[in-house]
Amino acid sequence: MNDILPPDSARWEWVEERVRALMQRYGYANLRTPIVEPTALFVRGLGEVTDIVEKEMYSFEDSMNGDKLTLRPEATAGIVRAMVEHNALYNGPLRVWTSGAMFRHERPQKGRYRQFHQIDVEALGFAGPDVDAELILLTRALWRELGLVEGRDVKLELNSLGQPAEREQHRVALIAHFEAHADKLDEDAKRRLHSNPLRILDSKNPAIQPIVDAAPKLMGFLGAESLAHFNAVRAVLDAAGLAYRINPRLVRGMDYYNLTVFEWVTEHLGSQATVCGGGRYDGLIAQLGGKPAPAVGWGLGLERLLLLLEALKLQGPSSAPHAYAIVPSASTTVPAMMAIEALRAAGVSVLMHAGGGGMKAQFKRADASGARFALIFGDDELAQGVVAVKPLRGEGEQRTRPLTAAADWAAELLA
Ligand code: ATP
Ligand code: MG
Repeated sequence: MNDILPPDSARWEWVEERVRALMQRYGYANLRTPIVEPTALFVRGLGEVTDIVEKEMYSFEDSMNGDKLTLRPEATAGIVRAMVEHNALYNGPLRVWTSGAMFRHERPQKGRYRQFHQIDVEALGFAGPDVDAELILLTRALWRELGLVEGRDVKLELNSLGQPAEREQHRVALIAHFEAHADKLDEDAKRRLHSNPLRILDSKNPAIQPIVDAAPKLMGFLGAESLAHFNAVRAVLDAAGLAYRINPRLVRGMDYYNLTVFEWVTEHLGSQATVCGGGRYDGLIAQLGGKPAPAVGWGLGLERLLLLLEALKLQGPSSAPHAYAIVPSASTTVPAMMAIEALRAAGVSVLMHAGGGGMKAQFKRADASGARFALIFGDDELAQGVVAVKPLRGEGEQRTRPLTAAADWAAELLA
């Protein structure tokens, strides 16, 4: 679990501001749910045989009443719970997003932490492939906002999981295939053979790759409707010039996941390659006790995104203030602060020197702040009713400006 301190926190804000602006442009409304939920929600919502529920949850008993609780490992289950609880789909479908801390008890490594942060987007009550495609286009728009190049820095992988009945036929064929090669499977695969054979396709063990590669492909079991949905998503991506790779091994474990699944992967983060993943889960709302309604969404790991931006030296604009206020003596503090307030009200970011110290020390701080201007509120200046404006980055001469009419010249500092 990490502390996020300045100056690094400025990069977080940079990304978060872009996310917020994009969600607004796409018509997704912000929503916030509790960090703690009943453990049963995640067991029902994610499935008992998933990695998260089997071994990654921070679960505990409430010492006051014995309730079994869990720090949320992901956002979707909580969002669906909230939607069901508030009957939020009563008036029609909803597009929502959230961001916040998630918790998983994993072995920490680069890009994998026990507290991490996700952006999570869900479109609830929409059945059509148009919304699947919209959600994918939204991710691409975010990459572009941040300076990432899709197809190079991040690559889209796409698959269709079909519908549960189609998957059942595939599952039968899959089990038959793995049973025929059971002697060559590893322990993990053997354990999953009957509980969750689809997850064997996800195995990273090179020793069993030949058997995995030869397994029957789900795509071959999809019916006309599922294929039409998949092709409609692809048609939008194709028209948008968004390249993707169809990855038949891209899976989600549980039965209520269906049709579209996708991941954005990168080569810059070692084995923590997935920056963003999502898909359709038409069965989950009913699974969690709601009136059946389709849904689709994605989750993005903010730490991984920030590591990727760092690896590619995409830093975002500097967070330096426009101006640093030098206040050499206590006698000028009050008028200086009034002028600084007026500048800030006009949109200028001003870092005020506080805590005393000589001119030289204050100028050193001004330089270190990265500000473009020093504002000098000295006794001499104030006696004349002015403040001295000194460029710090070699642009022009020092000049004076009227102290009590800061709004009139604030724009000079922004230019
Ligand atoms: P992985 O295969 O890397 O464990 P996952 O399938 O468990 O990922 P999801 O549950 O789909 O991941 O979560 C969505 C995103 O959240 C991931 O693509 C990743 O960017 C991020 N993420 C997941 N677990 C962690 C973690 N422990 N630390 C940091 N980011 C994470
Ligand atoms: Mg994981």
